[in-house]
Amino acid sequence: MAAWENNVRKIDPYVPGEQPSYADMVKLNTNENPYPPAPGVTKALKELDTDALRRYPKPDAHELTAALAESCGVGFNNVFVGVGSDDVLGTAFLTFFKGRLPVLFPDVTYSFYPVWAALYDIPYETPALDENFRIVKEDYYKLNGGIVIANPNAPTTIAEPVSFIEDIVMHNQDSVVIVDEAYVDFGGETALELTKKYENLLVVRTFSKSRSMAGMRIGFAVGSEKLISYMMAVRNSYNSYTMTTPSILCGTESLKDEAYFRKTVDRIIATRENAIPRFRKMGFKVLNSSANFLFVTHENVPAKEIFMKLRERHIFVRYFEKPRIDNYLRITVGTDEEMEKLFDALKEML
Ligand code: PMP
Repeated sequence: MAAWENNVRKIDPYVPGEQPSYADMVKLNTNENPYPPAPGVTKALKELDTDALRRYPKPDAHELTAALAESCGVGFNNVFVGVGSDDVLGTAFLTFFKGRLPVLFPDVTYSFYPVWAALYDIPYETPALDENFRIVKEDYYKLNGGIVIANPNAPTTIAEPVSFIEDIVMHNQDSVVIVDEAYVDFGGETALELTKKYENLLVVRTFSKSRSMAGMRIGFAVGSEKLISYMMAVRNSYNSYTMTTPSILCGTESLKDEAYFRKTVDRIIATRENAIPRFRKMGFKVLNSSANFLFVTHENVPAKEIFMKLRERHIFVRYFEKPRIDNYLRITVGTDEEMEKLFDALKEML
């Protein structure tokens, strides 16, 4: 190892799902939305005034922040926007977790949380989900340096009611509680209202799933003015211009079309509910999902084998070689046609 390498910050990074580009593929591995963004987004991009790109964007992403504040029923200073919710969550970890007590999040949850903790030298503990993959809230009633809960949880798809979240926040007034609601629009209950009652609660959301805009990279957080101003100070200490002019424009357009948003989300929920009994008939155990994906395990055939065989057919699902979940597959809900192709392949294989 060269001497300079002693000073390198070394980290095992988060590994995102693969992004292959076969013409014939069925891509159900990264929880993307199978439908296009709202028509207004397409129109805005087509009509984008490229001359505007000469200028820096507004550092507070003004139009987008204002539109989000209105749609969430909170003030402008209660909203933080970032480059996908990964950017928002990473900033929140850096901002709020600097004590010696461990930050708590479940053993089975979004696998980026331990990576941010490692990156920023944040101690953490991972209380185990119970045997049904449910969060045991009492595990979070102890001294800690912060709490992170994905609700609905990923990859388990299970949502807890907002009263459950409030119990956790109520027992934790001395540390910041982050609720990651990346998938809430597909059937979860939001904790947004609780941010008005608890100044230490941060709710994080994304445009990547329910708004079909993973490629545009827009995420946001809602919390007390105090929480948001601490995050802004940290963000402005490494990059003041996180949101591009096109992302501000397109994000704002997306929020204008509530009817389209509901229509696509409802379609995904309908496809999901149709798929569940079909999986069960084929010998899969399926957890009840409040997300745009399913978490399944087969009674006889190992998940890894199914994953590999589907992959050969250019059908991509997600497999995690991790304790407790290495016999499960996480399958994004696609269009009805995509699900049909998946079921045809499974029928042949099993
Ligand atoms: N939270 C959870 C639970 C997720 O599954 C994801 C998607 N990988 C994210 C946050 C981040 O999504 P994005 O950065 O696209 O908003």
